[in-house]
Amino acid sequence: MHPLGHSRALVGVALVGLSLCSCAFLRYHEQRDPPPHWSRNVIPNPDGSACLTVYLYDPGPAERAALRAALTEICRIRSDPGFQRRISAEANWVAGCTATHERPPRSVPEPVSAREVLDRVVQGAVPEFHVLDYGSFGPRTYAETDPRRRAIAIDPGRIADWESDNPSIRALLVDTLAHELSHLVVASDGSGSAFRDDAACRDVTPAGDLVSYKTGYLTGCWYEQSQQRPGRGFSLDECLTRGRGRSE
Ligand SMILES: [Zn+2]
Repeated sequence: MHPLGHSRALVGVALVGLSLCSCAFLRYHEQRDPPPHWSRNVIPNPDGSACLTVYLYDPGPAERAALRAALTEICRIRSDPGFQRRISAEANWVAGCTATHERPPRSVPEPVSAREVLDRVVQGAVPEFHVLDYGSFGPRTYAETDPRRRAIAIDPGRIADWESDNPSIRALLVDTLAHELSHLVVASDGSGSAFRDDAACRDVTPAGDLVSYKTGYLTGCWYEQSQQRPGRGFSLDECLTRGRGRSE
């Protein structure tokens, strides 16, 4: 398969709001605290201050390097005033959906302001979190997040995308991690993730409007743009359109 067939479209297809018995987290959930051999990593902002603190669950050296590098890119992008302006300028943000009390219930999209996305996702403090690799997701799924345990499980194949010479492929890891990081933001009532994208919600609103997908696409495309040689004619809007078109 052509490497680009491994498309951005497939990136964003990830689930959130999982029960504690989700396969991806089964072995992990047997351990109540991060064991000492977990690798603690502080990811810096460009000014050297701490951006993210992440525990990596039994990573190999290549996986550790890839995750650290991709998360460092995310911190760089989030602190970029141009990126923050772009987030603020985007219309049509949807936080997730609420089920009505009807029978059967309907899923109703919850709009959210760009300001809230900027404050809570792009500039909000992220609690310490865990990343583990996991190889057996369902089709078209590369990662899952459990906001209660502050844990992201991610397909090792997606982590290995970082080894590619092609920035469009490396951008997939940036996109997936940025997407999942949005799910770590908890709702004000503590009930779970503030930004959700379950299948019922994706049936009633374009995936490209959901905060998780949209921040993932924007971050991945921003990274891809930063990797282009001058004069190559890269278009951020085309990159975003590609991602949105394939995901729906
Ligand atoms: Zn998701």
